[in-house]
Amino acid sequence: MTQYAAPGTAGSVVEFRSRYDHYIGGEYVAPSKGGYFENPTPVTGQTFTEVARGTADDVERAIDAAEGAAAAWGKASPGERSGVLLAIADQMEANLEKLAVAESWENGKPVRECLAADIPLAIDHFRYFAGALRGQEGGISQIDENTVAYHFHEPLGVVAQIIPWNFPILMATWKLAPALAAGNAIVLKPAEQTPASIHVLLEVIGDLLPAGVLNVVNGFGVEAGKPLASNPRISKVAFTGETTTGRLILQYASENIIPATVELGGKSPNIFFDDVAASKDAFYDKALEGFAMFALNQGEVCTCPSRALIQAGMYEEFLGEAVERTKAIKQGHPLDTTTQVGAQASNDQLEKILSYIDIGKQEGAKVLTGGNRADLGGELSGGYYVEPTIFEGHNKQRIFQEEIFGPVVSVTSFDDYDDAMKIANDTLYGLGSGVWSRNGNTAYRAGRDIQAGRVWVNNYHSYPAHAAFGGYKQSGIGRETHKMMLDHYQQTKNLLVNY
Ligand code: NAD
Repeated sequence: MTQYAAPGTAGSVVEFRSRYDHYIGGEYVAPSKGGYFENPTPVTGQTFTEVARGTADDVERAIDAAEGAAAAWGKASPGERSGVLLAIADQMEANLEKLAVAESWENGKPVRECLAADIPLAIDHFRYFAGALRGQEGGISQIDENTVAYHFHEPLGVVAQIIPWNFPILMATWKLAPALAAGNAIVLKPAEQTPASIHVLLEVIGDLLPAGVLNVVNGFGVEAGKPLASNPRISKVAFTGETTTGRLILQYASENIIPATVELGGKSPNIFFDDVAASKDAFYDKALEGFAMFALNQGEVCTCPSRALIQAGMYEEFLGEAVERTKAIKQGHPLDTTTQVGAQASNDQLEKILSYIDIGKQEGAKVLTGGNRADLGGELSGGYYVEPTIFEGHNKQRIFQEEIFGPVVSVTSFDDYDDAMKIANDTLYGLGSGVWSRNGNTAYRAGRDIQAGRVWVNNYHSYPAHAAFGGYKQSGIGRETHKMMLDHYQQTKNLLVNY
């Protein structure tokens, strides 16, 4: 089989409901007053389901349910909670294709990425935090001869989680797995573009959790996200999205003096030093693959290597081959397992990317390939497709400075190491970056000098659960993944006892 059947047609591994309500206290609950909004698939542009439009009343009901469930879940032993997380992982694994096809259809991403990366990474996250929780220990300090301090981990209570649309299930999992492991009850708001994937996930795992531990309120940012993030009854807000929205989230959190983690945008440099071209071997080929990562997930990745910096000595040769490789990327139906680039997630995102392509052209940057909306014909004509696009220009242009969040890379050359670092760090962002060199010293030094939370050296775009991930500068505050996340979802209780 090379293509999965589309949802709604014979043989599909996933059937969406015609309508999704909120999920509160373990049940589907109709919206109190917001009605429903239409949810189109980016594959064809056609509506495939409608979704409850959350308001402040729905948020209050979800927090009521979470508060009711928080105490018992928080007091469950680490062994019990860990067991539930492992069961969730098993259940997701048993439903891998269903989750993958649901996400591909709703987001437009190639199903092969969902099958090989997005869903397996999500599954591994639950397993990782199930294990991390079992390994977590409190501390004992002797204060003086008669006094001892004990440290205990306690859950925060009810936490709000607000996620974007680019990796719906993985972004949910990055937040759910550590928060659940730590014993919190959750109110999650999916992105308005991709709520159905989260509801398919709930169909798969919802029954494994006590009612009220995980609640989902659908809807839009200001209508549903703001009343959630600014609610005085929550103990933490964990947010992933745009830097402009992150600024608002921090303001809401400051009103209630609660912790906020904000995982935000990026404009990641991918730096190729001359020695990459010392030989046309497997390493050279791997570096070209690393360049092409700008088109992975249609460029809708916070760490998209959207600025390529190539050293002058190999610039023409390497870029020429990178352009040929980009032209060979297969764009097509997202449910075709041979497709490498699918559809952008929404019409708004499509328009935004096309407007940046126009800006690049107006700024005088040169289009080396792509530069247009892609019309794939037939039923895909109404879908949201953009050609993978390479611009050549300089780092002061807007297409080098602003997050486009599409399959667009802006390329420039650099003379020497200092020049590379200057260009790489000349950005408001500091999330991801890549360094390619055969010289270990150069790679290490660059890895330390780049102001970003994640530097991939001689690889790009891997997200293991046990490697900390997060941003410098305006790319965010806090980290995700890694067992340190347990601390971010817990209070430390100190008991100081005089015997
Ligand atoms: P967005 O900020 O528009 O929306 C993200 C979420 O916030 C959505 O659920 C939205 O409904 C909600 N929201 C919007 N306004 C709100 C408000 N006033 N109050 C509360 N909630 C509100 O971002 P997006 O377009 O969905 O996602 C793309 C962005 O996410 C990109 O900038 C990308 O770089 C970033 N991102 C970052 C990471 C990371 O780990 N750093 C990962 C993925 C995506």
